[in-house]
Amino acid sequence: MGFKVAIIGRPNVGKSTLFNRLVGKKLALVDDTPGVTRDRRVHAAKLYDLHFDVIDTAGFEDAAASTLPGRMRQQTEIAIREADLIFFTVDAKSGLMPDDRTFAEVVRKSGKPVVLVANKAEARGAQGGMLEAWELGLGEPIPVSAEHGQGMPDLRDAVIEALGEERAFGENEDEDSDEIAASEVLIGEDIADPDAEASYDDTKPLRIAVVGRPNAGKSTLINALIGEERLLTGPEAGITRDSISVDWDWRGRRIKLFDTAGMRRKSRIHEKLEVLSVQDGLRAIRFAEIVIIVLDATIPFEKQDLQIADLIIREGRAPVIAFNKWDLIDNPQELLAELREKTERLLPQVRGIQAVTVSAETGRGLDKLMESVIKTHKVWNSRVSTGKLNRWLEGILAHHPPPAVAGRRLKIKYVTQAKTRPPGFVVSCSRPDATPQSYVRYLTNSLREAFDMPGVPIRMALRTSD
Ligand code: GDP
Ligand code: GDP
Repeated sequence: MGFKVAIIGRPNVGKSTLFNRLVGKKLALVDDTPGVTRDRRVHAAKLYDLHFDVIDTAGFEDAAASTLPGRMRQQTEIAIREADLIFFTVDAKSGLMPDDRTFAEVVRKSGKPVVLVANKAEARGAQGGMLEAWELGLGEPIPVSAEHGQGMPDLRDAVIEALGEERAFGENEDEDSDEIAASEVLIGEDIADPDAEASYDDTKPLRIAVVGRPNAGKSTLINALIGEERLLTGPEAGITRDSISVDWDWRGRRIKLFDTAGMRRKSRIHEKLEVLSVQDGLRAIRFAEIVIIVLDATIPFEKQDLQIADLIIREGRAPVIAFNKWDLIDNPQELLAELREKTERLLPQVRGIQAVTVSAETGRGLDKLMESVIKTHKVWNSRVSTGKLNRWLEGILAHHPPPAVAGRRLKIKYVTQAKTRPPGFVVSCSRPDATPQSYVRYLTNSLREAFDMPGVPIRMALRTSD
């Protein structure tokens, strides 16, 4: 087993439910009454292609212990000490309670990698709890519903993010589970994203979020796209209403558009300014498949723009850039060349990203922008057959084989696409941990080129083949 996870949180947030979901059996007792007595157990768990042990900490709050906060805390500390990764779980439906903060403090002090799980996210009113969870200082809350099995692909990605790919997919001594995982991969099933479509589906509404700094022209752009003055715009940053979504049609294609006006709440709410803007942006990004980053072409690529782009890429969504206010530019040729160069240099993870010059005010470039969105969405959904991938791999191995590390040549056996949205590949090789990142980058770039997948994040996981 690769690593050990402790599910930590106050009573009743859904730890046992999450435990059951990960372990895949009804092992832990689930009860509405906080403090139902349970044993402490450790079990093999699986989250798509991730294999690990999970410590059932539910028993830690048995009735006797919870009357002694000190003891509860001590027990929690033991579990944290044993674990390589903490799933710090909160109840998004009920919001934060004082105990959440107490537990979070213990977790933070441990210095262990943490994934902040915002459970019951499917419940009405969970949005507020999600927002609050940021206050714990444990990073981005991952919305899940342990009960309904929602948000699990994001949880998987968060684990990889927290541990790093090498540790997340590290040595797996359990041969059986390795075999199962390998065969799952070989038959080309979606192991990482059960909702992924095998072929491109253009009947479902394409979900777009429009993000960008205040005053970049987001609202003007949305108005221009949907052709109505449905949103408020104004010259001063801070004109605001809550994030909303708008349904509309573009050349017969159904679109659901999500606007992050909340990003402009800044000027009204002085405290927690960063948290709010990041949170709102994140919410929109999670909702979206494609995220249009609106940049003011007169002041492009400020630090915040790059942070937004980075967030989109990390979330696995595909960005499309709109260089807005192009009507104000006197030297379009020159600036365009400069922006192209900058874009490729600053965002190498999405090489070939679609970037379109527009004027939200005059409507110029908007059709091109939508074409780019749809093109990118297709790439984001794309799937390459295992056969094609391995013919490509043969060529790579013949011309640019992996390097030798400590005198031993790394062997790559096969590659397969494990997921779409964004495309994710699993490379089966002799020593994942020894494979240099530079070679992984090389593989990613050549794969992107060979199968024409510009502008979307590409996930590449290495797995041991023996
Ligand atoms: P624990 O005390 O942290 O182990 O919490 P449990 O797993 O026993 O769950 C407490 C209660 O929350 C139970 O009634 C569960 O059915 C409920 N619950 C767990 N997960 C979810 C969820 O994702 N959504 C909702 N709405 N309820 C949940
Ligand atoms: P948001 O804060 O990103 O939603 O930005 P707004 O849509 O409210 O626009 C901010 C300001 O920029 C407003 O005064 C708009 O009229 C102006 N603006 C937006 N798009 C354009 C454009 O394409 N060209 C010019 N010249 N001004 C624009």
